[in-house]
Amino acid sequence: MEKIILVTGGGRGIGAACALLAAEQGYAVCISYRTNEAAATEVIAAIEGRGGTALAIQADVSDESAVERLFAQMDKRFGRLTALINNAGMLFPQMRVEQMDAVRINRLLATNVTGSFLCAREAVRRMSTRHGGPGGSIVNMSSRAAVLGSPGEYVDYAASKAALDALTIGLSKEVANEKIRVNGVRPGLIHTDIHASGGEPGRVSRLQATVPMARGGDPLEVARAALWLLSDEASYTTGSFIEVSGGR
Ligand code: NAP
Repeated sequence: MEKIILVTGGGRGIGAACALLAAEQGYAVCISYRTNEAAATEVIAAIEGRGGTALAIQADVSDESAVERLFAQMDKRFGRLTALINNAGMLFPQMRVEQMDAVRINRLLATNVTGSFLCAREAVRRMSTRHGGPGGSIVNMSSRAAVLGSPGEYVDYAASKAALDALTIGLSKEVANEKIRVNGVRPGLIHTDIHASGGEPGRVSRLQATVPMARGGDPLEVARAALWLLSDEASYTTGSFIEVSGGR
């Protein structure tokens, strides 16, 4: 069976590492991005330059009609997907809970939670044996924040990742007998641009002394875990989480 993957937010950071590794492992790769077309185009060029097949589509995952368009375009180009990495995620500048307003909280939940639900829904409609699909595998990109809570920085983000973990557990049981596995990866402090969007580009360096392995992680180290969970090597693994956090 041809392996076809969608990596949401695949233009940068962890998503880009997942897309590149998936291509290396023989997947036809679709990545989505929200605004950074240049970064997404670079990932596509890198995959095609190595003889792979890749497509980038602009789609804000928090927008239901954009998600439906994304999957329809993917169907047209590649056929039914067999793997999804729900990676698109964001955070806002660091602040305490007592400073947060509803606009911020709802925007964050719309991307990190609603967006992941919508993409999972579209994937299940294509993968599930209930819908005549061949099965498939989903990985949700959670965070160690779901467990640690991110006090003083972004408890809203941590709560969104805890919700994503509940999606992983619930959906994994819902579709376990329909040839779909659903798992999560919880990265720790990984070197990407996301920390700059939280207002502290040097956050990984500041906190790396709190990591038992005493360093931040590389996006590729996260991608390897995600791709393993998607693979047949993980054929009896569902509703599980891999912590990729150097022990933190
Ligand atoms: P990043 O470098 O900031 O990249 C985020 C990606 O998500 C970008 O491609 C961005 O698109 C896309 N994106 C954001 N909002 C979107 C939306 N509404 N619709 C569609 N795409 C959207 O982040 P990262 O560090 O690689 O993070 C990737 C995932 O890992 C996230 O879910 C994050 O929460 C999780 N994570 C990261 C860390 C870490 O330390 N880096 C730790 C734990 C978990 P554009 O390129 O168009 O902006």
